[in-house]
Amino acid sequence: MRSTVLCFSGLDPSGGAGLQADIEAIGQSGAHAAIACTALTIQNSQQVFGFEATSKELLLAQANAVVKDLPIRCVKSGMLGTTDNISALAQFLGEHPDYLYVLDPVLVANSGGSLGDQATLVQAFKSLIPLATVITPNTIELRALTGLNDIHEATQALFQMGAQAVLVKGGHEDTPDHILNTLYVHGEIVSETRCPRLDGEFHGSGCSLASFIAGRLAQGDQIKQAVHHAETWLFGVLENAETPVVNGQKIPKRF
Ligand code: PLP
Repeated sequence: MRSTVLCFSGLDPSGGAGLQADIEAIGQSGAHAAIACTALTIQNSQQVFGFEATSKELLLAQANAVVKDLPIRCVKSGMLGTTDNISALAQFLGEHPDYLYVLDPVLVANSGGSLGDQATLVQAFKSLIPLATVITPNTIELRALTGLNDIHEATQALFQMGAQAVLVKGGHEDTPDHILNTLYVHGEIVSETRCPRLDGEFHGSGCSLASFIAGRLAQGDQIKQAVHHAETWLFGVLENAETPVVNGQKIPKRF
């Protein structure tokens, strides 16, 4: 059976982000996706209207059920929603130290809507940082996690918290014609990828990138290789993204 990525992620009914993005991206990477659902959100491509989080017990029960019969190599987390769910994931990872782990520190949707209480999530994420093989913050999340404005200093602060590798995604920076992603491993820059900035906003681009990385890691790629594969794949997916009937964020066309 294909190597499996177990995703801790929420349902986005628009299908752009969350667990659907994870399933599609991991499938495209060549791996199999399994899901422990953290929350049901109410949202469309324009706005988040609310969410209901899964209980810690239900979340762990889902994860523990599939551990028994799937070849899990990597865990990926996106929206976790509550500090209880974050501590459940920390407990789960503690019981499976051999799993690789991609931490996408989701705090808000790209549309700006809340996916949990930001202050408490930021505190709780600190327990997951040392467990991650790679962390994939955008610059809003990076600044929120560290309280620092300068990107390089903020990234170094993540390493002081125990991070092993960090992919800083530059999509929210004021670079009108390009986006710069920077990969740090053990505090050092190991690669910088610059791609043209595409028109519009995208729903689920971060989920897709982190999940594709997780899928490639599960199949044996090293971090730098996994990130490059994922960036190349995501650019094509976003070039082909579809505009909803109203003018919301574009939905990535992952296959
Ligand atoms: N997870 C869920 C369930 C979401 O609804 C969202 C955004 O709406 C995200 C994660 C993060 O999405 P993005 O990849 O756009 O940052």
